[in-house]
Amino acid sequence: MSFYESAEVAAVRQAARKFAAEVAPPEKAAEWDLANEVPRELLLQMASLGFSGLVVPTEYGGRGRHVMGFLAVIEELARRSFGLSTLYALNAGYGGLNLSVSGSEEQKRRFLPDILAGRLMFAYGLSEPDVGADLASVSTTVQRKGDQVVVRGRKRWTSGAQHADYIICLARSGPEGERHRNLSMVLVPTSAPGVQITNIRILGSGGNAPADVVFDDVTVPLADVMGGEAGWNEGWSQLVGPALEIEKIQPAAMALGIAEAAVEEAWTYSEQRRQFGRVISANQSIRHDLADARTMLHACRLMLQDAAWRVDHREASAVETCMTKLFLSEQCRDVVLSCQQVMGAPGYAAGHQMERLVRDSLCFPIIGGSSAIQRNNISNLLKLARG
Ligand SMILES: Cc1cc2nc3c(=O)[nH]c(=O)nc-3n(C[C@H](O)[C@H](O)[C@H](O)COP(=O)(O)OP(=O)(O)OC[C@H]3O[C@@H](n4cnc5c(N)ncnc54)[C@H](O)[C@@H]3O)c2cc1C
Repeated sequence: MSFYESAEVAAVRQAARKFAAEVAPPEKAAEWDLANEVPRELLLQMASLGFSGLVVPTEYGGRGRHVMGFLAVIEELARRSFGLSTLYALNAGYGGLNLSVSGSEEQKRRFLPDILAGRLMFAYGLSEPDVGADLASVSTTVQRKGDQVVVRGRKRWTSGAQHADYIICLARSGPEGERHRNLSMVLVPTSAPGVQITNIRILGSGGNAPADVVFDDVTVPLADVMGGEAGWNEGWSQLVGPALEIEKIQPAAMALGIAEAAVEEAWTYSEQRRQFGRVISANQSIRHDLADARTMLHACRLMLQDAAWRVDHREASAVETCMTKLFLSEQCRDVVLSCQQVMGAPGYAAGHQMERLVRDSLCFPIIGGSSAIQRNNISNLLKLARG
């Protein structure tokens, strides 16, 4: 418990830590990373522990708005396996959070019970081959045809698409001229005719790695536009709406969990590895590296808890969530790299936990709004003069 973390959040964290330690020992995490698959039944177990409803309102059977608890679960899972934390995010975050915030009443009644039971996973289809940071320029289209819509185009880097039940697809629903106004989010079943999913081989994030997705004239009911018919052309406001504050700090919590695992491993290793007749942790340079790493983790934890507390209490948080995403992504990566250095050659060896942590930690300054985009946001939000 800390001055920020209530007894309730501490209990959620404890339960997540225990669960992750039981189901994801290092050899399992390595296996999932290699196979790019985390057993889906683990979601059922997480749901039965109440994790799936941490950001779902109580009127739909969730636990209300427990952003701090949600992030504590993400962090504790990532500490054992990035893939396991992504599995959870595809269910409780992309599914539970987005549908609670932007879904129509009918969609909430239809989807949330299965999300809460751990039976549904949603991938997030925003990026495209030619669209990264500039999401308002997506070229995937969605056209209305009576009470149906037709989705056509390509998405790239869609994490977990190969395992998800639905892809929340950001698509252009009107003329390009009005970029931000003519966008809609569509819930496309991955089993629908015309959906093709191809794995992308990347450096890390095994378990639920990103995939390429092609939508070849995929027809879904108009009722499956996020928010129902009223959500038509509301995709941008849904994307940058209240869910974004949580989505910005979700990868920060993952980065923190991964960095904690790296420090734990390097710390223990340094107390066991002997060179020149003594443990390497007796050397001042190693002691200082590890002391710096622990200090940085403490700072990151406080920053994340402050951002989560603000979001939980509906305080102004746009600047703080950008700062948290920026700071934790970069600092946690640096902590992991310094821990790899402490370990020497084993930290560079395939199949070693440290090597996996290094690979996983490198993505955070890129994903979920890159570091440059967060710096743009911070200077814009704080109204730094342009001339
Ligand atoms: C592991 C992983 C998982 C991912 N999961 C998903 C997912 O589930 N769903 C999804 O939709 N996408 C996902 N992505 C994609 C991710 O969100 C994008 O990589 C990210 O948005 C950046 O886009 P980009 O890589 O095309 O870079 P670009 O936008 O092409 O940017 C390239 C470089 O230019 C910089 N840059 C761009 N614009 C500006 C600017 N205005 N000012 C300053 N610098 C700028 C960027 O910071 C970056 O350094 C994932 C990516 C990875 C690696």
